[in-house]
Amino acid sequence: MSSVDEIKARLDILDIVSEDVQLKKSGRTYMGFCPFHNNTRSPAFAVYPETGTWKCFGACADGGDIFSYVMKKNGLDFKEALTLLAAKAGVTLEQYTPEQKKRKSIEEQQIELLESAADYFHQLYLHAPQAKHARDYIQGREFTDQTVATYKIGFALNSWDALRSNFMGQGYSEQDLIDAGLLTENQDKGTTYDRFRNRVIIPIRDVAGRTVGFGARTLEKDGIPKYLNSPQTGLFDKSRILFGLDSSKRFIREARQAVIVEGYMDVIMAWQGGFRNVVAQMGTALTRDQLQLLKKQTKRFVIALDADAAGVNATMRSLTVARETLDRDSEIRFDPSGLVREESRLNADIRIASIPEGEDPDSIIRNDPAEWAKLIGGAKPVVEYVTSVLIEQQPIDDPKNKSEIAQQVIPMILDINDPLERDHYWQFLARTLQVDERSLKQLNIKQRRKNNNQRPVVQGKKTAQRQQPPEPGAPPPIDDSNYSAKSSMGMMPDPTRRTKRKEAELIGRAAHNPGVIRQVNKILSDTGQPILHAQDFSLQIDRELFLLINDKQSAGEVVPSGDMWDSLDDILSERLKEIGQSISAIDKKPSRNLALSVLQWRLEKKKLLNTELQQMLRTARSNGESESLEQLAQQVERLTVEIKQIDRAKMGLSSRSKHRYAHKW
Ligand SMILES: [Zn+2]
Repeated sequence: MSSVDEIKARLDILDIVSEDVQLKKSGRTYMGFCPFHNNTRSPAFAVYPETGTWKCFGACADGGDIFSYVMKKNGLDFKEALTLLAAKAGVTLEQYTPEQKKRKSIEEQQIELLESAADYFHQLYLHAPQAKHARDYIQGREFTDQTVATYKIGFALNSWDALRSNFMGQGYSEQDLIDAGLLTENQDKGTTYDRFRNRVIIPIRDVAGRTVGFGARTLEKDGIPKYLNSPQTGLFDKSRILFGLDSSKRFIREARQAVIVEGYMDVIMAWQGGFRNVVAQMGTALTRDQLQLLKKQTKRFVIALDADAAGVNATMRSLTVARETLDRDSEIRFDPSGLVREESRLNADIRIASIPEGEDPDSIIRNDPAEWAKLIGGAKPVVEYVTSVLIEQQPIDDPKNKSEIAQQVIPMILDINDPLERDHYWQFLARTLQVDERSLKQLNIKQRRKNNNQRPVVQGKKTAQRQQPPEPGAPPPIDDSNYSAKSSMGMMPDPTRRTKRKEAELIGRAAHNPGVIRQVNKILSDTGQPILHAQDFSLQIDRELFLLINDKQSAGEVVPSGDMWDSLDDILSERLKEIGQSISAIDKKPSRNLALSVLQWRLEKKKLLNTELQQMLRTARSNGESESLEQLAQQVERLTVEIKQIDRAKMGLSSRSKHRYAHKW
């Protein structure tokens, strides 16, 4: 049994939830007021002790297992929740202890070594005659002595083995130096050499202030690469580090705003100029892990990347990651056509500062700090920024482009929390595209309708009939009789074993084939359905794996599966191996079949939920709870609409793929 399973087996979710929520038994379910949203009238929070799961039927509409609960309740990440629950369960994570202990002590030794290396580089910078050009370079950038000391700026000698002989002389082994990323191995020749040569060295610290790697700028004219980082090690993972966060976090909280820039030098110059709430992303776009780190400090972000094409692309990508990562509030409302729909609004304020072409934060602050303050103060809201970028790329004298742009911008308008602000941006978009605001809003509704009505019901039925027998490789149809049989006994909204296997299969495929998530998302959005998100998966551990894989791949990193496995935590890699073993026998499925699987399990879960809601509705009706009746009825209505939508999307997809790909079979 894995530690995760053992913890689940030993702990009763009722005990854990009862610490915060007063629960009342109702059949096989326990109900209480949801601890995650303002829920005081009728209890909307259900706990299912038999399956160890929970579900909110109210505004947050969230649910999961014991790990998801503890994470959400205490603002923990998966690992922290695991540690906490393991302690509670008396599971000592024993099977990992020797390994973990070893890893821990290796980690500590590595940090010690990296910190000595930072001192070594710094002393060379300050005193070595060979470092004169490095000092000239840094003085040319107008960094003060104090800044040099604060960031412990260093210098690596122009030598293949100076660092190696220095540290081996202190008793470190060659392997220690390789593991810390200080030496590079030439595997053909079986030799090693200093990774950093003739470069200015910037130590990179994690959020706790420990030196975990280095960034090194070349001092040679046209030296390649301009910046060389430490290689990925157990400690140094670019996607999980924000440069400068260790010192800026206090100021980010004070200013209630984080400014995100591109490079180390920008952060250092900002710090020197008195702007201390600044961090640098370590790659081309922000990652989910980086946003999670920042989110602990603030929910207001200003992205200030360079104005060149690469900077614009990076900003657009970061915005996508941010919209996927940051917290959302849900609200349920009626749209003008009378459909109940759930709006999910972004619980964060993201703005973009436009750096003038040819400049960067470093140069602006150096020349005129007031100019920087003005740029950040005048940062554009996302909608304005994205609209202007899109118009630049697709001029609006072509009416087709107008519609194209509107379709990309409208979801961002719908993200806005404040209704007045939202109105403002409807007007803004209409004005900018020179169209009528009402047509814009209609476009939005049309989009929805189009998805709903892509296939009129009658035609849909015919399609469904033609479909039998099911196309090869398609998941078997859901057996609806199952639900009605169980529903009278109070059905658990817990997905079937087959669904969990399908979920695992998708993760397994995605881990081994970088294109899978993108392809499945494309197919899903073509059918008008939301793209994959963590809540698509039943188990918290699978959610963690999905997010990790998705992050790596959407950051454009090519992750060879071997490396992927190596970089995972024990618990996650154990799960991925388990998945790998269970799916290896299944034929490789085309992405559209995976997408069909997704629709299938979404449908199944919504139907289970619907059954449960109907049950609650009946109970409320017989108890005369009028307040919850109204709310429940609304939810049932919404769910019914969603179920129809998924059903249609599914039918559309299977008939489409049948026509388009028929010749392949
Ligand atoms: Zn809730």
